[in-house]
Amino acid sequence: MRVISGGYLLVCDKEFNIIKNGGVCFDEKIIETGNGEELVAKYKNADILNLGKNSVIMPGLINPHVHLEFSANTATLKYGDFMLWLKSVISLREELQNRCTQSLIEGVLDEILKSGTTSIGAVSSFGLDLKPCVKTPLNAVYFVEAIGSNPAAIDALFEDFQSRYHEAAAAKNSSFTPAVSIHSPYSTHPVLARHALKIAKDENAVVSAHFMESLHERKWLDSGEGAMGEFMKNFNSHAKPMTTAYEFLELFNGVKTLFTHAVHAKDEEFEIIAKQKNALIHCPRSNALLGTGALDMKKALNANVPLLLGTDGLSSNISLNLWDEMRAALFTHQSYELNSLAVLLLNSCTNEAARALNLNKGRLKKGFDADIIALKLKEPPQDTSDIPLHAILQTTTAQKVYIKGKEIK
Ligand SMILES: [Zn+2]
Repeated sequence: MRVISGGYLLVCDKEFNIIKNGGVCFDEKIIETGNGEELVAKYKNADILNLGKNSVIMPGLINPHVHLEFSANTATLKYGDFMLWLKSVISLREELQNRCTQSLIEGVLDEILKSGTTSIGAVSSFGLDLKPCVKTPLNAVYFVEAIGSNPAAIDALFEDFQSRYHEAAAAKNSSFTPAVSIHSPYSTHPVLARHALKIAKDENAVVSAHFMESLHERKWLDSGEGAMGEFMKNFNSHAKPMTTAYEFLELFNGVKTLFTHAVHAKDEEFEIIAKQKNALIHCPRSNALLGTGALDMKKALNANVPLLLGTDGLSSNISLNLWDEMRAALFTHQSYELNSLAVLLLNSCTNEAARALNLNKGRLKKGFDADIIALKLKEPPQDTSDIPLHAILQTTTAQKVYIKGKEIK
C-alpha cells in the first residue's frame, strides 16, 4: 500500500474537483483520496511519498485511437490533403510495414508511457503490433480491423479478420482486451462490417470506426462524386458508394462504438451517435495535417456525444503524446473559454475515455484501478482554477507513472 501526496490532486470526476495539498492511498485499486497529511497519518504502514508543492497527481491518460503499425512514418506519407495522403498510404503501406519492427513499436509504446498515458486503443490492420501490445505494461484495448470493399472477396476478408481476432482473443488478459474496428464507410463492405460486428456483439467487444473524416468522404457517400469518386473509379469504372452515412451509423446500433473524426458529420448524424450511446474521438493534429478542417466540437457536445481525444497514428501525426494533442486542441478551438476547455480536454483523456472503452479507470476514486500519474509543474499558477490549463501547457512527460498500483520506471 502506498500514499502519494503533493500540491494538487485532480480527481477527474464530473465536478472536476481539485484537492489542494491532496493525496491518494492505493494498492492495485484506489483506497482513498483526500488531504495528503490526513492520509499519511491514517495509513501509517503505507509507503509514503511526498512529491512537493509543484506536483499534480491525476489519473493516467487514455489515448483511445492510435495506429502503431504505421510508426515508421516520418516523411514517407504525403500531407496537406486527405486524398493525397490516402493515395500515399495505399502505395507505400507495404514499405512502412517492412520498416515497422517489433522493437520500433516497443520504443513508441515506451514513449507513450513516459508521457503519462497508461491506456491505449490500438487499431491493428495487420497484427504486427500484437506482441508489443500484449507485452507492454500499458493497458491496451486492441481493435482488430475489418477492411476491404471487393464484394467477391468478402469471405476471404472475413476469414483473415477472424484469424487475427482469434489470435488477439487468445492473448486476452487483465491488461489486454481484444476489440473490433470497422475501418470506414468507404473502405469496409457493409456485409463484412455486419459479420465483424456480429462477433463484437457476441463477445461484448468495443468497436472503433472512422467516420466523415474529410469532405471527400462526405461528397462520395452523399453523391458518389468528387475526388474520392474519381479515385474509386480507377479500380472500378462503375464504383458506387457501398452505403449512405445513415446506413453506416445504423450498423452500430446496440454496439458500444467509438467513431473517430466526424469533422464533416451533420447535426442529425451526431444525434444518431448520441442516441446509440456511442462516443466520438477528436484528433485535431491529424485533421490539420490531412487538411480535413477542424471539428465543430459544439455540434457534437450540443448533441450530448461523449467527446474523447486521440492522437491517431504516426501516419498522420508527429507524436503520440496526449499533452501535445491537448495543446493543439487548445489552440484549435479558440472560441471556448480557456479554463473550461482545459477541463473538458482533461476529462476527455481520462474519465470519458475510460467510460467509452469499458475501463474501470480514469478517476481517482475509491475502487477504481490505481492508474495514476504525477506531473511536475515548473511554476504552479496562483489560482487553483488555473491548474488544469497549466497542467496541459507545462507537461510533456510524467514524473511518476503507476499502473494498477505498480510504479513503471
Ligand atoms: Zn485513425
